[in-house]
Amino acid sequence: MIVMVIDMSKKFKIPRGTSDILPQESLVWQDLEKKARKILNLYNYREIRTPIFEETDLFARSMGQTSDVVQKQMLNLTSQRLDEKGHIQLSGLSLRPENTASVVRSYIENSFDKKESLSRLFYLGPMFRGERPQKGRLRQFHQIGVEAIGPGSSSPYLDAEVIALCVNMLKSFGLKKFELKINTLGTLACKNNIHDRLIGCIEPRVDRLCDDCKERYIRNVFRVLDCKKNSCKSVIKAIAFGKDWLDEESLQYYEQVKTALAELDISYTEDPSLVRGLDYYTHTVFEVSDASLGSQDALGAGGRYNHLVSQLGGPQVDAVGFAVGVERILLAKQGSDNESEEDLDLYFLAIEETCVNEIFQMAEQVRRSWKGAPESLSVGINYQVSSMKSQMRAANKARARFVAIYGLDEKRQGKIKLKNMETGAEQDIPKEEFIEKFNAAIIEPGIKE
Ligand code: AMP
Repeated sequence: MIVMVIDMSKKFKIPRGTSDILPQESLVWQDLEKKARKILNLYNYREIRTPIFEETDLFARSMGQTSDVVQKQMLNLTSQRLDEKGHIQLSGLSLRPENTASVVRSYIENSFDKKESLSRLFYLGPMFRGERPQKGRLRQFHQIGVEAIGPGSSSPYLDAEVIALCVNMLKSFGLKKFELKINTLGTLACKNNIHDRLIGCIEPRVDRLCDDCKERYIRNVFRVLDCKKNSCKSVIKAIAFGKDWLDEESLQYYEQVKTALAELDISYTEDPSLVRGLDYYTHTVFEVSDASLGSQDALGAGGRYNHLVSQLGGPQVDAVGFAVGVERILLAKQGSDNESEEDLDLYFLAIEETCVNEIFQMAEQVRRSWKGAPESLSVGINYQVSSMKSQMRAANKARARFVAIYGLDEKRQGKIKLKNMETGAEQDIPKEEFIEKFNAAIIEPGIKE
């Protein structure tokens, strides 16, 4: 038996680098998720939900032993717990730092390739990285991502379509000022060539790199190109990237992607220093950023990964995908339109204690009678009996669209007063007609979209 000493006077605080999504913000999240689902459906993606932890080796093998995420940011489950049967080992498992590896694991385990030639999958949910928290960089953050995997995914049109989906999704969230950067790493052979060329170009200037990048230069030279420090940026600027770093096949593929993007009217800038630090990318890589976010300016990123499925023990099938970060999207949206609508459609207010029981029953009848147009209805009750004035204050605070007032006068007359908080219009409705009249009032066009 494990005995823990618990400090009973301790006040608990949220862990660093995480956040509570409070009810008011939750509405904004729901709205964003709704818009995301709508556009993902438009592009024929279906949701997949994988566990939030997996074997650590899955991430090490997919993202690469030398990637910063695997080296420094993995949150590992190392504790052991006892149950009546013995030890449950949690070691060897890690919270997911991203979801591509998990989706690919599931793709292989569930033999998706035997069922369909192209699996268009999407996910949304929390990811975990042991980073030093700062604005836009959390230890638990949320991503919305897509993976298009299968033999039917090996077309440059799909790269363009996935990029268009990413851009259109951000637009549907109301973002306007972001920039799309694209590049190609070419085939696996080209990527190895780029690696060697980078080593050669940076070698004479290694001493000018920051300490982290000196290490990255040895571990994973691609990652040096992501460094935001001025000293490293000047070293990167001096690198003469050339088309001769790529072979004919890779150049041709890249041209096709760019032509397809132009056909879809998607504007982009090419950035030869965009490489992405994860092992699995080949060919197209892209990133969407918003300069107003400061140092953590990436809203999302993705690319093609044609060898990951086979590297993880599955069939040789191609794939392409991306993930966007929800918290960064919300930061970018801040100050624009993230005010939510009303919290409550109908708020029952009791002016006298003897009226509470009747409105308690009436509220439940309204909920049960709801036929679903508009899509959802929220009905609340203020059980704190008080004067009309303070009840109205409570209704305003609760951001109610309609209030139903029931006091002694109404009780005597067998009526309920329905007030539209937007227009101020009031009507006294006989109790037995209340549900019908309220339903009619709420679906009346023009009151709420
Ligand atoms: P990545 O998998 O690193 O390419 O991340 C994809 C997107 O997830 C980024 O563009 C960010 O929007 C978001 N993201 C990644 N790491 C974090 C983090 N630590 N905190 C908040 N958002 C993050």
